[in-house]
Amino acid sequence: MHPGRGGGNVSLLKVEGLSKHYQGKHGLFDRLTGARHTVVRAVNEIDLTVEKGEILGLIGESGCGKSTLGRAILRLHEPTSGTVNFDGANVTTLDPAALKAMRRRMQIIFQDPYACLNPRRTVAEIVGLPLKLHGLAANEAEQREKVAAICARVGLKPGQIDRYPHQFSGGQRQRIGIARALISHPEFIVCDEPVSALDVSIQAQIIALLLELKREMGLTYLFISHDISVIGYLADRVAVMYMGQIVEMGPVEQILANPRHPYTQSLMSAVPEVDHSGPRKRIKLSGDLPSPLRPPTGCKFHTRCPLAVDACRSQQPDIETVGPGHTAACHRLAEKLTLLDEASA
Ligand code: SF4
Repeated sequence: MHPGRGGGNVSLLKVEGLSKHYQGKHGLFDRLTGARHTVVRAVNEIDLTVEKGEILGLIGESGCGKSTLGRAILRLHEPTSGTVNFDGANVTTLDPAALKAMRRRMQIIFQDPYACLNPRRTVAEIVGLPLKLHGLAANEAEQREKVAAICARVGLKPGQIDRYPHQFSGGQRQRIGIARALISHPEFIVCDEPVSALDVSIQAQIIALLLELKREMGLTYLFISHDISVIGYLADRVAVMYMGQIVEMGPVEQILANPRHPYTQSLMSAVPEVDHSGPRKRIKLSGDLPSPLRPPTGCKFHTRCPLAVDACRSQQPDIETVGPGHTAACHRLAEKLTLLDEASA
């Protein structure tokens, strides 16, 4: 049983065909070859749902589009196309006033709390800002009372709320970021690599805090991480992202025990066996993540995939159902090949 277990079969968030494209920056090679209008498809045609009360883990290498997807869902980055439906409302078409109101319900916790905490403001001002923005405190005294209560809940001492961000450690700053995200009583939080910048011992404390708060406040998380151990520990379901696309998605037990996409299998090879029999044989992918300015044709993973065949280089695989709630996009699913077995042989 996973500590975050809690999906209730009611969709809170439904993302359909969501894309975020950017105009690519051109280097000398592009100018010489006349490639002037390269589009970077940072997030491309993503479909996913998040059930009320669950933790959907979003995993993939740095630069695969995870954070861009999280921000596009909240419209912190305006999507290029597609829809985000939150509790029955189409977030992508909300006018500025309605979007502001919706932001009270949909919040984000960032990876680097220091970079997003205003160094000239005290904790009381930083954490209290959402109350001001959304008119959630009748006066200064009430605001201060609410700030003190949420700061105490995330583990800060009462005397600390008049201090400035630079007076805190990394873990304490992340607690401030969590307090700011939660003070408006949201329902959905994008946790964008919230523990990646922290020491391992502090990571465990922050993860435990996020799980406690989720249970107490009935929260739903999209939890972004490049660390499969973290995702495997707390997620109910997992979505695996590669070059702007989701290549596999399913219940965490299935993804850990029976990963079907070769990319997922390579990620899982970094995780120790559940029976503690030791680490699996590590599958090292050849090559780096291709440049998003010149993505591979066909399956975007074909330049690094040990199982690639001719079709992979020209045809993008469709998403197929491979088990209950479990989907993957690969031309060779029917062959039930596993890189893990080959690597362990
Ligand atoms: Fe590998 Fe081909 Fe499957 Fe892509 S479609 S993951 S290249 S086998």
